[in-house]
Amino acid sequence: MGYMSSSEKTEGLVIRQADFSETSRVVTFFTRDFGKISVLAKGAKRLKGSFEAAIDLLTQCQIVFLHKSTSSLDILTEARLVKRFRFQSHDMNVHYSGMYVAELLQLFSEEFDPYPHWYEAAIQTLKSLEICEDFRLPVLRFELYTLQALGVLPEFERCQCGRPVQNDHENWSLWIQQGVLLCSQCRHAERASRVLTGEFLVRLRRLIETPLETPFLETITPGQYKALRHLLTALISQILDRRPTMLGYLQF
Ligand SMILES: [Zn+2]
Repeated sequence: MGYMSSSEKTEGLVIRQADFSETSRVVTFFTRDFGKISVLAKGAKRLKGSFEAAIDLLTQCQIVFLHKSTSSLDILTEARLVKRFRFQSHDMNVHYSGMYVAELLQLFSEEFDPYPHWYEAAIQTLKSLEICEDFRLPVLRFELYTLQALGVLPEFERCQCGRPVQNDHENWSLWIQQGVLLCSQCRHAERASRVLTGEFLVRLRRLIETPLETPFLETITPGQYKALRHLLTALISQILDRRPTMLGYLQF
């Protein structure tokens, strides 16, 4: 009796590992061509196992795996190291940020649901974290990119009444549960989260519209960082129905 399986080749980032047996691990990759996949890496725990060097958390690898048509686990047959991210900073936040990128990919993705641009965004973010002075901006940009890639980022463009955001001091708020932006006249006191000025929203839109590989050169004030942090934590926690674990470690 034959089992249908196909050999697939792609590039991926290790986002999770779990022991499977004495000698094997289940490795979860976020791949460029297949989205999230979990594969059995046989012999991965042996000291001189063939995959040992390649499949640490946050390594980028070229992989070949056998995709099973049955419900059994796919099997990793080759893993070749492309890049191991090395965070130079002594700031633990930078290291935690890398783990947070992996957690966001894990939590927001589905198996075999590819998002090649999101994969590239994750790689770009890890590269930025390798050289950055300040972990906050790469993290914020990746969070924004993730929500945008999944189509759940509010547009921050106009109120539901049609009134457009202007670069001024009008007080807006985001109705988090609905992902709806409300102008000063439509804000409901009981639903209103914190106040966001028009000026802040214009800055936020510029941040969203700047491609990840392009440096964002505008100054973000401590108050704006605080508002951005509050907004993203609220949006992400609302969508996931819980707060990601690594957010508890990051000291913004
Ligand atoms: Zn309005």
